[in-house]
Amino acid sequence: MTQTIAETIWVIGVVSWFILRLPHQRRSRKTPVARSAGGWHDRILLAISLTGLGIIPFLYIFTGEPRFADYAFQPALGFLGLLLMIGALVLFHLTHKQLGRNWSVTLDTRKSHKLVDTGLYAQVRHPMYSAFWLLALAQAALLPNWIAGLAGPVGWGTLFFLRVGREERLMIETFGDEYRRYMERTKRVVPWVY
Ligand code: SAH
Repeated sequence: MTQTIAETIWVIGVVSWFILRLPHQRRSRKTPVARSAGGWHDRILLAISLTGLGIIPFLYIFTGEPRFADYAFQPALGFLGLLLMIGALVLFHLTHKQLGRNWSVTLDTRKSHKLVDTGLYAQVRHPMYSAFWLLALAQAALLPNWIAGLAGPVGWGTLFFLRVGREERLMIETFGDEYRRYMERTKRVVPWVY
């Protein structure tokens, strides 16, 4: 494993991520929205997350900046990053399949929205966000630069922590006690932990 291979794994992983999302994005445009809890708050968070998970690492790979934050590449971290990236892509694909038409990029509920609480959603309430955590950690492991690597967990973490409570309130407004009971039997992103 070399630094160039690790960086190539990041590029292939992120391009695959966008390709996996495309059909869901297309379908979601055709599914009418019932209630929106997103607004400017959610759009700013999405921009922060995109900067950390996309723009900063992309600029680093193609310009080498910011050089002052470089550290020596560790092959073991490269292999760890590869495993995290594979796990992230598999989980991302499965959660999109299981969430189906109920998925939105911003905080919305759809017409005839169904509460999904089976499959991966029986293990945790936000398995797609677990996939994003794996992607952010893969970035930190694959890019030997303190700023470009850690921009992933920081950018994603900002969206996650400032959104997840609002999302759960939206789910309670929509599904009431059904969601409250679901919350009692599940954790957010890591089974038994958090
Ligand atoms: N937080 C979830 C879903 C992310 S997509 C996950 O990480 O897997 C965001 C949209 O999914 C929100 O707008 C919300 O309306 C919807 N959503 C979240 N949890 C859901 C669930 N258990 N069942 C159905 N829709 C859900």
